Order: sequence, then structure tokens, then C-alpha cells
Amino acid sequence: MSSENSLTFVLSNRGIKNSSTAHQKAIYDGYQYRFKENNKNSSRYICTNTECYACITIKDNVIIKSCGQHYHQNLTESQFKIIKAKQELKKDVLPNKSKTL
Ligand SMILES: [Zn+2]
Repeated sequence: MSSENSLTFVLSNRGIKNSSTAHQKAIYDGYQYRFKENNKNSSRYICTNTECYACITIKDNVIIKSCGQHYHQNLTESQFKIIKAKQELKKDVLPNKSKTL
């Protein structure tokens, strides 16, 4: 129950190819958000559902603002686990470029 509201970051598929500028996807409260834009000190993410206008503003990995409403179902726990599991797989596949800045 307590994990439902946790904020999780995953790299989007697009980001994997170009890891230095990888944009993260954020999963919060069972909804997925994709990176939209950087503000002064924070980043804006919008719901990955194209018909949905919900958004969150994240600063230092903490959600400081959320807006809009979701008109669709959030992820089930098993879907969420699959996404996280896929992330683990991707990490293994990534080349050792972690030192590039
Ligand atoms: Zn949504």
C-alpha cells in the first residue's frame, strides 16, 4: 500500500540510444509520465496517455505540483512490476559507457 504513491523513474526507450541525454519516464501513483520540459529548477512531465492532460512537476525527485486528472485506469501492480523488470534488463544490455559525461 505504501508503495502506491512512490515516484519511480525509468528510462524511455528513446533515451536508451542516447543515454547522455536520456529522458526519464516517471511513474507516480500508478500512472506513467513522460518528460516534457525543464523549468528553472524543476522538470515537467505529462501523462503518457495522449488523451490525458495530467501533468506533474518534479524537483529533486520530489513532486512539487500535479495538475489535471486521469481519465483512464492506472497501472496494475503486475504491469508496474513488468516495467521495472524491463528496466533491469535494459541496464544489463547497455554498454559500459557510464563514464561519459
Ligand atoms: Zn493520465
